[in-house]
Amino acid sequence: MTDKIIKNDQYYMQLAIQEARKAEAIGEVPIGAVLVYQDEVIASSFNLRETLETTASHAEMLVIDKGNQHFKSWRLEGCTLYVTLEPCPMCAGTIVQSRIQRVVFGALDPKAGCAGSLMNLLQDDRFNHQVEITSGVEAEVCASLLQTFFKQLREKKKLLKQLKTREESIQE
Ligand SMILES: [Zn+2]
Repeated sequence: MTDKIIKNDQYYMQLAIQEARKAEAIGEVPIGAVLVYQDEVIASSFNLRETLETTASHAEMLVIDKGNQHFKSWRLEGCTLYVTLEPCPMCAGTIVQSRIQRVVFGALDPKAGCAGSLMNLLQDDRFNHQVEITSGVEAEVCASLLQTFFKQLREKKKLLKQLKTREESIQE
């Protein structure tokens, strides 16, 4: 019997986490996303806001863009988007616009999350499309990636500040 990989939410979230690690490797906030259609990964991407210097370069936006190119359509009906962090208002809005069927995310974002934390743009029945949500998949891994990243960033800034102070005291 051959080992068949069980492609469940955890499996696809692991792929999104791999994308987030790619972001981390180049100094970007580690957030990754994959787009799945009929058990097949159509697109994968990660946050590139600093690299591209564009506001809209969130992982979800980039993966939706790739999905549009794949299907040659703005409609992504029947697709599931996996993302390591709860979508922000911009991404949640784009997800609704793209008619994505389902969103699976890892960590909650209490400061910007619009899939339940601050508001729930994905399931507001005043819009003409609602999105199924599954949250908390591999949440600890997704959150710890971000926590570690920001901790290291703070330490780096602290160290730079110390170096600068030392330099200044030498010059005096
Ligand atoms: Zn976003």
